[in-house]
Amino acid sequence: MNKAFVREPDSDASVRCPRCGNLATETLRGPLDQHVLPEPRRRLGDSAWCCGNVRCAVVYFDVFDQVVCVEDLRAEVYPYSSAAPICACFGLTLEDIELDIREGQPIRIRELLRKSRTPEAACSQLALNGECCLKEVQRVYLKLRAL
Ligand SMILES: [Zn+2]
Repeated sequence: MNKAFVREPDSDASVRCPRCGNLATETLRGPLDQHVLPEPRRRLGDSAWCCGNVRCAVVYFDVFDQVVCVEDLRAEVYPYSSAAPICACFGLTLEDIELDIREGQPIRIRELLRKSRTPEAACSQLALNGECCLKEVQRVYLKLRAL
């Protein structure tokens, strides 16, 4: 049944995690160099795919069946560790979002929005999947606010 998982880009260029089948994000060398320990880093080339499923042990994989798991990372990262910053560039955490909700003003999130438009935002280098965290911040904010 595992054979059903698509590892090569298919017609719509989507790639799925070989372990869990999650739709993965192509990730370039910046985040790989940033997050993966030197030894497991050698398994991957200049780019890989990021699984992104918090319930899956695989963080990165490539089309040659190489995988990098949570324990191959240099540090604890969000979403695998909920205490780690959601924003790799400016360190916004889950706790910051909870404080914004409790105080009834998204002050910290607005500040992040402002900073995300500055040259200090380096998501393509620092974020686990190389993508801006604002989508995830918004998702978490709306989810927690609805509780
Ligand atoms: Zn996975």
